[in-house]
Amino acid sequence: MMIVVMRKDATLKQIGSVIKTIEELGFRPHMSEGEEKTIIGVIGDERKVSKDALAVLPGVESVVPILKPFKLASREFKPDKTVVKLNGAEIGGERISVIAGPCAIETYDQVLEAAKSAKRAGAQILRGGAFKPRTSPYSFQGLGEEGLKILKSVGEKVGLPVITEVMTPELADLIADYVDILQVGARNMQNFALLEKVGKISKPILLKRGMMSTIEELLMSAEYIMANGNRNVILCERGIRTFEKYTRNTLDMSAVPVIQKLSHLPVIVDPSHATGERYMIAPLSFGAIASGADGLMIEIHPDPDKALCDGYQSLPLPQFEEMMAQLAAVAASVNRKI
Ligand code: PEP
Ligand code: MN
Repeated sequence: MMIVVMRKDATLKQIGSVIKTIEELGFRPHMSEGEEKTIIGVIGDERKVSKDALAVLPGVESVVPILKPFKLASREFKPDKTVVKLNGAEIGGERISVIAGPCAIETYDQVLEAAKSAKRAGAQILRGGAFKPRTSPYSFQGLGEEGLKILKSVGEKVGLPVITEVMTPELADLIADYVDILQVGARNMQNFALLEKVGKISKPILLKRGMMSTIEELLMSAEYIMANGNRNVILCERGIRTFEKYTRNTLDMSAVPVIQKLSHLPVIVDPSHATGERYMIAPLSFGAIASGADGLMIEIHPDPDKALCDGYQSLPLPQFEEMMAQLAAVAASVNRKI
């Protein structure tokens, strides 16, 4: 894969003829109109074409191979940030997107109460697990399709787009019928069959970093989704396994600037799964936004002590709303809004 960088003064006609040539050579062009220059990605096996065939065309400044193992996900391929647009929300733009809701969908009233709080506080997206990846087969596994119905109807009632996790390729189409974003969880980050499947779905995908995965592996997993046609991928840092025991995982905040440098995809932080304890959610949320994250995923619950899943790390609703009010000042300090 390579990119054709057009000269600043290239005309539309010249750009058009480069695109035509790329297609004639048997490749797929991908336009990226930057503020300064137009960049055209050339998708296909570049060993089959000589750079010169494109470099000699009028208006072309240079033809550069993308050397990183991830291509479509790389900043070279698309210098401008991707903004994932949803009905009523966007991720990766000026506004910070907060995804809030319970770990697991338990009852209609539980989700509704959490959703109203999320909406009041300025969160943009409602979360809730219906098919839960649990360490123990004896733990609550989620309400399944019944949970999807609750999530969809609450989302419509309060006016928030919704997200839930998909664990198997077989369930992807069903889940896509109910939600606005599909989540691939940490445990499935390298489930390549699942990545290929969600790559063919027309809804955005939130891809969580595996607890034992490098940033490069995360970006390669995003590449799987993108190579299958879905360009709307949001990345999520949710902590990685280390020797530290005071936290459930170790939040790798450095992943935020690294990903912002290497990729155009939006990146958010999940301090709930990263820490496992509620007292750390606010400070790390502030840190994430100050570090340049495009958003947060936070578990909240109307009665966390009775939660069927992840109660320890779930914020009670008043505490969440208070944190969101404080977050606005942090966002403003890095020229973002909530
Ligand atoms: C979740 O968000 O509900 C979840 C299970 O997170 P993770 O995949 O990051 O553990
Ligand atoms: Mn959880």
